[in-house]
Amino acid sequence: MKRAGFLFLACVSAFINGCDNSPRLYKDSRLMMGTFVEVISPEEKAAAIAFGEIKRIEGLLSKYDPSSEVSRLNSAGQLKVSRETYDIIARSKEFWALSNGAFDITVGSLVELWGFKDKKYYFPLKTEITQTLKRVGTDKIILDPVDNLVKFAVSGMQIDLGAIAKGYAVGCAAKKLRENGIKSCLINAGGQIYCLGLKSGKPWLVGIADPAKKGISGKLSLVNKAVSTSGDYEQFFIKDGIRYGHIFDPRSGMPADSSVASVTVVSDDSLVSDALTTAIFVLGEEKGRALAEKFPGVEVKIDKEKERDKDGK
Ligand code: ADP
Ligand code: MG
Repeated sequence: MKRAGFLFLACVSAFINGCDNSPRLYKDSRLMMGTFVEVISPEEKAAAIAFGEIKRIEGLLSKYDPSSEVSRLNSAGQLKVSRETYDIIARSKEFWALSNGAFDITVGSLVELWGFKDKKYYFPLKTEITQTLKRVGTDKIILDPVDNLVKFAVSGMQIDLGAIAKGYAVGCAAKKLRENGIKSCLINAGGQIYCLGLKSGKPWLVGIADPAKKGISGKLSLVNKAVSTSGDYEQFFIKDGIRYGHIFDPRSGMPADSSVASVTVVSDDSLVSDALTTAIFVLGEEKGRALAEKFPGVEVKIDKEKERDKDGK
């Protein structure tokens, strides 16, 4: 579960409660895609529309649903998938190429080895990492667009769309809301946020979680924008005073160790904001900013403050 999500949630709620003269806002939340998804809108029907769309995407991409297309692909090693799932995997491949391998959806085997899948954390031996890396690498995903066939070149590979699926799902939910005539809504899927239209005639205000000070490090005024944050302060374990987080450097097989504590990306495209935050976290500030420049209109905020207690609080 994401702590950043709760911080976002708390901030957003605080701002909403502060506006006495505004029209009533309906709020609803649901546990989906491994996190809390909250929907806030003056339209009562907005939440059902957003949840319905996210549920649909969960059925395609979620690692938490054993019958999802991605789960079935992982157990079979190859699968003819829907066009939608195929396109997300193809886009993930593009991010892999653009990020020089820092963004890599085949990290699934590493996530498992290090115990992040079931939160039974484990510090692996070097040989175990070397063995596992044989099953990592997006170049080992073979795509056949003719019949949407996805195939693994090495047996035992595991796709994990944790760094992109929520972004895609929130973007789809926003599109569905628009199609249904909803003009004002905020969707927050554990820190992956989309701000649709205005809130009571003004931009939505979203607080950015501060990893070091447990508060917020800034506020964003957003209209028709997605915002996402990645950090290692949400899911991690500490061993010998060193923090090991849930974002991996697929080239070393180790949790990413750039000097970035958290990165926030604002974009028109929710999928882009999600994928970029993870990639920038792995690449570090300089290479990360260079990557973001390839996406026009994207705003990046990087927090390098890593002064935290040894117990990780
Ligand atoms: P969160 O899911 O907490 O919002 P991210 O969007 O950064 O955070 O996604 C992190 C998740 O993505 C991890 O839990 C893991 O499932 C997966 N992942 C870890 N490292 C990478 C990577 N280098 N590239 C792509 N996906 C990754
Ligand atoms: Mg991400």
